[in-house]
Amino acid sequence: MARPWRGVIEEYREWLPFDDDVKAQTLGEGGTPLVHSAWLSQVVRGDVYVKVEGQNPTGSFKDRGMTTAISAAVAQGAKAVVCASTGNTSASMTAYAARAGLTPIVLVPHGRIAAGKMAQAVMHGADIIQVRGNFDDCLDLSRGLAKEYPVALVNSVNPIRIEGQKTASFEIADVLGQAPDLHVLPVGNAGNITAYWKGFVEYEAAGVTTSRPRIWGFQAAGAAPIVLGRVVPEPDTVATAIRIGNPASWTFAENARDESGGRIDMVQDEQILAAQRELGAREGIFVEPASATGVAGLLAAAAAGEIEPGLTITVTVTGHGLKDIDTAMAHRGDLVDAVIDVDVDAAAETAGLR
Ligand SMILES: *Cc1c(COP(=O)(O)O)cnc(C)c1O
Repeated sequence: MARPWRGVIEEYREWLPFDDDVKAQTLGEGGTPLVHSAWLSQVVRGDVYVKVEGQNPTGSFKDRGMTTAISAAVAQGAKAVVCASTGNTSASMTAYAARAGLTPIVLVPHGRIAAGKMAQAVMHGADIIQVRGNFDDCLDLSRGLAKEYPVALVNSVNPIRIEGQKTASFEIADVLGQAPDLHVLPVGNAGNITAYWKGFVEYEAAGVTTSRPRIWGFQAAGAAPIVLGRVVPEPDTVATAIRIGNPASWTFAENARDESGGRIDMVQDEQILAAQRELGAREGIFVEPASATGVAGLLAAAAAGEIEPGLTITVTVTGHGLKDIDTAMAHRGDLVDAVIDVDVDAAAETAGLR
């Protein structure tokens, strides 16, 4: 009989830097679906699978690194935890802190946080502090707090976050029975691209897989410091989760790109929103804008003839669409297509059934 999924620490403990006596603070994160996409497979003339990270407990991949970060913080005796966040890190941190009985301190940029993510932090009982500045300023502030006060920093500059997040690569390889040829994902603060690469490298080094994928990361054009090769002081994109101008894991991301023979490129907001819509309408997968960035990049690369046929490709979609319904609906004009009386014929007529 199948056993229930135990969360990423218990599923992959031997791959994580935890002693056996460290208790897992878990909400059952990980074990997310790897969904085959007939649409994308046809577009690239290969096999494309979508790793649906919005299925995690708080609706984004951040939970993978938060279970490890909060478990470590508890083991080290922390009483409070702090993070800077564009939204999802705080949604995740506050949930895990609530379970672990830690006091969560959230620093978010003034305005510009998706309402769903704020609602999560509020419901998990956090103190939310809005900072007159952008994400990068919030991260500086968090580091300062953690340095001078007894609070643990749980941003992805904390290496234990990367350890948890690398389990997504393990899951992909475990399901496929091998590493993909190519893995595609969005890049913001660049922790996740760092983590995926680490996971794929570790599996190959241990002989679980016999190859590693090329890694393709995509940034939003208005927040593409790695692509441009310089800090972007005022990053701007509809994809708020990757609205970051000075990624903390910048050099690790370049390393993943170069060692894997991959690339880091950028896509326009319109491409991101189009990919988000198509994923929802064609595949039944509703993601937040940032999460569609990898798919947008894959589509652009396919259109440019940059993908050789026959590849097995995995694409991470990072967070759930319900977190940011304002953006999803803002570009939709009238939401209701028709209003009719209670009448079967009228309904059939309007729906185009006759
Ligand atoms: C955090 C986040 C990203 C960016 O991940 P990084 O590790 O910062 O590069 C992308 N999409 C969503 C939904 C996120 O929450």
